[in-house]
Amino acid sequence: MSEELKPCPLCGGRAEIWRAHPEGPKRKAWIACVDRCLVLTREYDTTEEAIAAWNRRAPSVTRGQIARAIWENEGGVLDEIHVAEIADAILALLRSTP
Ligand SMILES: [Zn+2]
Repeated sequence: MSEELKPCPLCGGRAEIWRAHPEGPKRKAWIACVDRCLVLTREYDTTEEAIAAWNRRAPSVTRGQIARAIWENEGGVLDEIHVAEIADAILALLRSTP
């Protein structure tokens, strides 16, 4: 594997490759932010697919995942309406970024 993981598209944090069944021949993989927001991609059939999806920054994260990450970090400060608005804004930004 030669491709390097880009930082988390949401928080800029460090990302890691996670794999299911590390010993098996078929290794499903996903990428997780292991820094602040803890978002993750869906599961991909191969590590290469997971890395490509993460690096494209086309959010395979859902609005719900973004909102949850915001809520978990700022839930004591923001109410649900503001969390939803911020999640919408982040998702729109991610979808407009090539
Ligand atoms: Zn992050």
